[in-house]
Amino acid sequence: MSWNFAYDSPSAITALLEGEGLSMSKKFGQNFLLSQQVRERIVQELRIPDGGTVWEIGPGLGALTTLLVARNAQVTAFEIDHGFCRILREQAFVGDTNFRLVEGDVLKTWEQVSAADGIPDRICGNLPYNVGSVCIARFLEKQCLPERMVYTLQKEVADRLCADFGDKDWSSFTILAKIDYEVELSFTIKSGAFYPSPNVTSAVIGMQRRKTPLVSPELRPIFLPMVKELFAQRRKTVKNNLQHGKAGSLLGKAGVERLLADCEVPPNERAERLDIPVLIRMAQHIASRV
Ligand code: SAM
Repeated sequence: MSWNFAYDSPSAITALLEGEGLSMSKKFGQNFLLSQQVRERIVQELRIPDGGTVWEIGPGLGALTTLLVARNAQVTAFEIDHGFCRILREQAFVGDTNFRLVEGDVLKTWEQVSAADGIPDRICGNLPYNVGSVCIARFLEKQCLPERMVYTLQKEVADRLCADFGDKDWSSFTILAKIDYEVELSFTIKSGAFYPSPNVTSAVIGMQRRKTPLVSPELRPIFLPMVKELFAQRRKTVKNNLQHGKAGSLLGKAGVERLLADCEVPPNERAERLDIPVLIRMAQHIASRV
């Protein structure tokens, strides 16, 4: 049974931390989500199957975790702050068989967990901005692809993930997410809903795995590095980026020119003006020549 802690009360949070000789760390982006209504909404967005497995990144003191456990989810929580881990282990979820803690930096621990237990049904997290995008990109690149993921992120990062072709935020990160997921911005959260209040607006995004990925598994090893290269230097032309990258060394200068001509891409085009179907045609062209 989870404990009965007042997660919506800054004074209760401060008293708990002070009592344990702990403080909040800016380095780890520790802003606690106070509003019970918002926390409930995030958990609803996850659409957890009964008894489903959920990874939570950065549980903090357990504000979301408590709601997940109450819904009968089998929670694995990844937390870097050893003081918070002590509270989670010794107070909040002591003896709770639906709760397992993985202590340390999620970027260093998650692969071991997935190798041992497989990919969970759901992943969620209220992630500090410096970890959020890296963590999501790693899951996507390494094909840790649960059916659904829900993240609370700095709005700027959420906008990049949710961008449509033609938006200023369209990037290699957007494309990486879109090839396996439909991504939508569910709702925004004002900074006052957190304690302490961050300087930025946050947003909750929902990522629903596509039944069929936009890029086939065989094409991925060519498609992903090609997209990264194309966006590596956004100011440079597509031709320039390709010629100085892996495609250039595989195809040569003339080969890159033929690739662009065959795919009807003007040589002086910039990567942000290429939609996913064109990028797929380009990767297929490269694949047919190696
Ligand atoms: N989930 C809680 C909430 O919503 O109130 C806390 C969210 S707080 C924004 C982010 C949490 O992520 C903190 O508990 C922080 O210690 C943890 N964290 C930061 N970097 C991490 C990392 N690399 N691996 C695991 N946890 C991390």
